Amino acid sequence: MGHRSTLRLVEQLDRADVGGQSVVLTGNTSDYVVAADGSPRRLQHQLAAWAAEHGRATIIYSTAEGARQLPLPGGSPISFHLPNAGSSTADAIDELFAQIRSSAVPVQLIVDYGGHALQPVRAAIVPEHNRVIELVAEFVIDPEVRATGHRMTVITRTGSVDDQLFRLPGVAVINVELPDFEERLIFITRLLQPQTGQPLRLVPDMTPERLAALTGGLSLFDLLRARDESAGGIPIGHEWVQAQKAESLRRIAADNLIVHPPGKGIAEVAGLPQIRLLLREALDSGRFPRRLLLAGPPGVGKTVCVTAIADELGVPAIALGNVRSMWVGESERNFRAVLDVVDALAPLVLHIDEIDQAVGQRQTGQSSDGGTSERLLADLMTFLGSNGRKRVTVIATTNRPDLLDSAMFDRFTVIPILHPTSVEAAQILIIAATREDRVLMEDVARRCVERTDQLLTGRVLVDVLDRAMTFADADGCRVTIEETHLDAAFEDLLMALDPDEHEYLALQAIQLTTFQSYLPWKAAEALGEPIQLPQYLPALLDGAGLVSAEKLRARIDELRGGHGAR
Ligand code: ADP
Repeated sequence: MGHRSTLRLVEQLDRADVGGQSVVLTGNTSDYVVAADGSPRRLQHQLAAWAAEHGRATIIYSTAEGARQLPLPGGSPISFHLPNAGSSTADAIDELFAQIRSSAVPVQLIVDYGGHALQPVRAAIVPEHNRVIELVAEFVIDPEVRATGHRMTVITRTGSVDDQLFRLPGVAVINVELPDFEERLIFITRLLQPQTGQPLRLVPDMTPERLAALTGGLSLFDLLRARDESAGGIPIGHEWVQAQKAESLRRIAADNLIVHPPGKGIAEVAGLPQIRLLLREALDSGRFPRRLLLAGPPGVGKTVCVTAIADELGVPAIALGNVRSMWVGESERNFRAVLDVVDALAPLVLHIDEIDQAVGQRQTGQSSDGGTSERLLADLMTFLGSNGRKRVTVIATTNRPDLLDSAMFDRFTVIPILHPTSVEAAQILIIAATREDRVLMEDVARRCVERTDQLLTGRVLVDVLDRAMTFADADGCRVTIEETHLDAAFEDLLMALDPDEHEYLALQAIQLTTFQSYLPWKAAEALGEPIQLPQYLPALLDGAGLVSAEKLRARIDELRGGHGAR
């Protein structure tokens, strides 16, 4: 019996070993692993045990602590002269290699904290660093070394080992995975037993299985911290897990993944009946669409919807950073590693903002970026298409659905997010006022919105409210925002957005909508709410009150004509 990720590690070590390769370990290398008997072990000890099974002794070296032998229960130490403490890295490694070469017993040399030993930190140590890399290169490809069975294992702790190392011919790179559900459950069960010191304490409705399910993406080390923290007072529940995930995400993925701060759910969102319909259907059926594309003009609340949906589903919302620069600047490997982290952190909502720019557009041909867009799109599509990712809800947002590759539309349910109706605009003002601890009466908001004939977005409304607060402050009104303040703010607003541009983007979104139930006015009808149409819509209806595809197309062409650049 074995544990999936540990077994996979051993499998990969075996494969490299058969090929005579040394290995560089990246990923979750600071963690425990669950050994075959279910006990947690430090990675170094797992490696030493593995080496012992292949008849090898293990020497471990790090810049900070020098070299020592890792004795195993039942194993006998070999006679080995360790380099003097304080020798330079290059000297120490040189000496270790020389001794290993003359040892009849095969040796595994673990270089721990490989990042320190094998990465130049200051210009001053560059020659020294190059010497280390040269020594390592000679060692790992030396046929005699390989035949005797000596191996080198580099443990990276930060993922920032010199890239030269990855490219050495005698080296295999192995990613140490985060623990899977079974391993977490085994570990949690152990931590709950009082004989292992202070036991882990859970909140009343938390079971070990539930905690194991929720802690995807966390290391066993994180769980150990949960035990220590709960022993100090507060039992472990949902909040701790969410906070810990956000923290570990920052550690693993740096800027490539950004955690959206949780909001108050759909209660903080005005209007958008299509989103509320979607959530109601999900709660009724227990199923949620796995891939949504929210399309609409800028500032209408697409991002707000992403966090609101995540809140309602009870999972974190995480934004994929700048995919393109992550991919071009680093490598495909890096992009895939980020997607792996996303997988491990599931369940979650993955937000891909401005997906049209993130993965390249239709007209970005092979010629313009050496095929990067195509490969990036292919990678993303593979990620989205694989069945194992049921617990990742992908929500993409875009202002320009018209620029997307047609492959996207097969994979996403397109939901239009449009300009607020006057009722919704008033609600947005009130929500924004409440957020600032101000009072704005509903009838006041309604009247002011109706007096303006501008096309508005949520973002513009938030700005208007901000301006109204300034006017109220000047009037000595610290709490209530009066009609005069709000009117003055609207009057002060110069044309905030290009109405043709916005109409064009909104109509594109309507045209590409997947199901008509998700047109906002249809959704409002389904929810039994009063129906209000966006101001550009009445002109496009046919006799039966449906959107006429023909009129829609004609109007889009007309607007496009006015903006030749599109
Ligand atoms: P988008 O992602 O469509 O560009 P955002 O979601 O960033 O737009 O919205 C911009 C701002 O407008 C948000 O910070 C939010 O305060 C406000 N807003 C937009 N739509 C709504 C809404 N329906 N309800 C409440 N606030 C909204």
